[in-house]
Amino acid sequence: MSNRNRPVAGAGCRIGVLGGGQLGRMLGIAGIPLGFRFVFLDPAADACASATGDLLQAGFSDVDAARELAGLVDVATFDFENVPGSSAAALEEICALYPASNALEAAQDRLVEKDLLTSLGIPVPGYRCVSSRTDLLEALDSLGYPAVLKTRRLGYDGKGQAVLRDQEDLERAWQKLAGSELILEAFVPFEAECSLIAVRARDGKTRAWPLTRNVHSDGILTLSLPGVFDEDLESRAATMMQVLMEHLDYCGVLTMEFFLLDGKLLVNEIAPRVHNSGHWTIDGAVCSQFENHLRAITAMPLGNTDMTGCSLMFNWIGRLPDRDKAMAVPGLHWHDYGKSARPGRKIGHATLNAASMEELKAGAMRLASVAGGEFPRLLKSLWA
Ligand code: AMP
Repeated sequence: MSNRNRPVAGAGCRIGVLGGGQLGRMLGIAGIPLGFRFVFLDPAADACASATGDLLQAGFSDVDAARELAGLVDVATFDFENVPGSSAAALEEICALYPASNALEAAQDRLVEKDLLTSLGIPVPGYRCVSSRTDLLEALDSLGYPAVLKTRRLGYDGKGQAVLRDQEDLERAWQKLAGSELILEAFVPFEAECSLIAVRARDGKTRAWPLTRNVHSDGILTLSLPGVFDEDLESRAATMMQVLMEHLDYCGVLTMEFFLLDGKLLVNEIAPRVHNSGHWTIDGAVCSQFENHLRAITAMPLGNTDMTGCSLMFNWIGRLPDRDKAMAVPGLHWHDYGKSARPGRKIGHATLNAASMEELKAGAMRLASVAGGEFPRLLKSLWA
């Protein structure tokens, strides 16, 4: 029997993960108590997920390595969405891959993603495909300034994009991005950004964590505050998620990132994986996004996604704050990914838990002053 048809559930189950970054590491940490064993495929010899399992060191487009991984495990998944199609296909030939490659195809190209969401009646910001300078000028005529020019593929954390406010920005952005397939999006003067993370089991059962308010700095997620939106917004987001998950016959955790503008939700992008804005679920929900992803892909019953109190996540980008001072803040959970520090690199996070919003705010102010940098200002914007 090939691995593809082997029933997978329970202790001893071997899980292959394409990608060995911090998301893979947190999957490993969640899976060890469930009795799972992990093999990560990653080009880096020091991939931080390898602390929780074996490492197959190879490039992501190395199809032979993907086949080798598939032969070693019962089920495969990934911790990033830019998995090359040829590697996903090689995995799918040999073992079960969840989420399946149709979800990867939907999320890898911003144009395909927006066309799909639009066809499903899910609102997105205005957008136009840009393949030439003439296209760009026409797109700007119809969407107007300001707008955001983005590469269709491989952009993340604000990379591969530029805000166009005037002709000068246009020239600069065109010099930087011409040569890639592009998309122009209307600039959304959002009141807030938020994300919905949900999980769908193989039998179609779905659960979602509360909608989470997110604050970005330089395009990188900095703070996540769950459970602060009203029921109506929660239910509109959940309906969009349900429509997309059913369309894809999805299995595993799926993330939808939204802009909130005039009470309306517009989808910025989707990620067919566990997500940075759900890290608070490790310490602040009954069952985390990582555990529920593993439960879903191994056909185990899904866990409860309720919050256990109030939570706020701080992302550590480029440097860790003074650990001992931070850990002296009551209710703090510290996560160090074991990665070397580099500007713009996500190297850890902390989740602050509290019994009430007042307590959370007090702890957050204290943690923000320990962390310094942009944190005190961003925190104020969160509660403004
Ligand atoms: P992305 O890589 O598309 O998630 O973009 C990173 C961040 O840039 C988002 O979280 C927003 O803060 C900002 N951004 C991206 N697209 C737009 C847009 N169309 N309008 C306004 N801000 C945007």
